[in-house]
Formats: sequence, C-alpha cells, structure tokens
Amino acid sequence: MGVFFTELKKSILIGSIVIVAIIVGISSTVFVQENNTDELTRENLENPSGSEKIVVTTTTNVITDLVENIGGENVSVTGLMGPGVDPHLYRPSASDVNKLQNADIVFYNGLDLEGKMGDIFVKIGREGTAVWAVSENIPTESLLSLDNEGHFDPHVWWDVQLWMEAAKVVATGLKEQDPKNSLHYEKNLEEYLTQLEDLNQISLEKINSISKEQRVLVTAHDAFQYFGHTYGFEELAIQGWSTDSEAGIREIQNLSDEISKRKIKALFVETSISPATIEALKAAVQDKGHDVVIGGELFSDAIGEKGTSEGTYVGAFTHNIDTIVQALK
Ligand SMILES: [Zn+2]
Repeated sequence: MGVFFTELKKSILIGSIVIVAIIVGISSTVFVQENNTDELTRENLENPSGSEKIVVTTTTNVITDLVENIGGENVSVTGLMGPGVDPHLYRPSASDVNKLQNADIVFYNGLDLEGKMGDIFVKIGREGTAVWAVSENIPTESLLSLDNEGHFDPHVWWDVQLWMEAAKVVATGLKEQDPKNSLHYEKNLEEYLTQLEDLNQISLEKINSISKEQRVLVTAHDAFQYFGHTYGFEELAIQGWSTDSEAGIREIQNLSDEISKRKIKALFVETSISPATIEALKAAVQDKGHDVVIGGELFSDAIGEKGTSEGTYVGAFTHNIDTIVQALK
C-alpha cells in the first residue's frame, strides 16, 4: 500500500509539473505571437520627421484611397478589400479582425455597406480603437432613403460632393488621433477637396454631350442612385441596393421590355459583380429586336488595381464618366 501511495504521489507530482510546463509554454507562445503581430504591424512605420506613423485599417479600396490622400506620409493604411471585392457580401477573416484590432484608427463606409461587419466595428470601438464611418457627416437630407425604416443607400462615393464630406471626416479622425500633425492633414484635405471640385466640374461638362433621353444607367445592382440623382441619370438596376439577393428572371424580363421600348443604347457591367446577369439582360433585349450593347465596365463598389490610373477614386470616377459618355452619347 505504502509503495502504491508513494508511486501515486510521484505521478501526481510529475503530472502537475507537466501541466505547469504546458501552461507556461502556452502563455509564452501567446506572448511571442502577440509581440510578432505587433512588430509586423509597426515595423518601418516612421514618417520622415521620425515619429511613428498612424496605423489605419479601412474596408473598401475607395476608402483606402481617400485615407492615403488625406493622411499622406503620416499614415500606414491597410485596406481589407481589394479591387473587384463586393462589400455587401464580404465576411472578414481572422486576420482581418486582427488588422482591425491592431489599428490606431478604423475607417469604414457605414450605412450598412459592409453588411456582414457591423458587429465587429461596435466590438473594436468598445475595446478602445477609434472607429469612424466616413459617411457620418453627410446630412440626412442629402441621403437617399431605401425604405421607411431609416435605411439609406450606402453608395455615397459616386456623388463627388458627398465624398468631399467623407474626406472631411477622415481629416477630423486623423487630427484627433495625431493632433501634432493637424496642419499636415488640413493641408492635404484642402488640396484633395480642390481636386474633387475640379473632377466634379469636368464630369458635369462631359455629361452634357449625352441627350436627356439617353441618360439612363442600366447596371446589375443599384450602386449609382447618388450618381444619377446628382448628374441627371435615371438608374435601372436588375438587383436592389445590395447584392445580397438573387436576381430573378422576372426582373430581367421587365427590364428588357423597358430597355427595348425606350431604345436605350447600352448596358453596363460592374467590376465587383459577375457579368452574368447583365449578359442575360442583353440577350433578353436582343430577343425583342433591339440591338443593345454592353457599354463597358463601371467601377461600382470597388475602384481599380493600385498603381493603375483607375486605382484612385479620381481615376475610377473619370473612367466611369468616360465609359458612360462614350456608350450613350
Ligand atoms: Zn453596392
């Protein structure tokens, strides 16, 4: 019996040592991983004046471009969604959540554009990260209502003047986070607002070459309501404001009737949505004897590849205007 108890005590002792060792091992692994993440996010993050850059995480690449314009050399921006990504359906990965949690500031669109991410923004905001919806300063009377329950169309960036409001929110957010560089952000904001004013003016002039009857934008989903509202286009879309629903055969039939009756010249494909529904609509219109064409590809919920001319908001907007004018004039 005595020997048995001594052996039992020994095994308990060895067992405890093993458990303690495992716990110590796990905690040091977690610690090392945290440190690595920290180093990964913050290495080489000094601006020319030698102070640390502000770490920003954004959602769509439209917002990434905006923050890079206002933040300039003082920020390091990571965007979660690249070109061709549909924000309505986007579900963040574990590494995305990490990037959101490790940021000094998060900028997202809001108005439910990032339909599957709302809870995360609330959570990281509670944890102490500065979280800003770039659409938050747009007055309600400038927003387009989707229903009677207080939901608004989120695609505000296709109205240049509303995007100027978003630019101001980004500047405010960066100034609050980094007050010693306020003048830098204000100067960048001023320069960018001038660029956007010019873009707006030039676009209005280009649109004048399209006749009133042809100012109809037929697309896969309702991303251009603000664009249409401001620049005088009617928008006909197969799907509603979100892509989170199936486009039905009936919608395609009804729309093809209208397009062939009104002799609308062109339909447009969107870069962040499969062209299949627009191709089906084109075939349905042609069956009715009207020779409609696909007028080109429009940037809707994402802008182009970084480093290309359409990889900036100004470039993507210009591409859209030129494509629309070319197809409908
Ligand atoms: Zn959309």
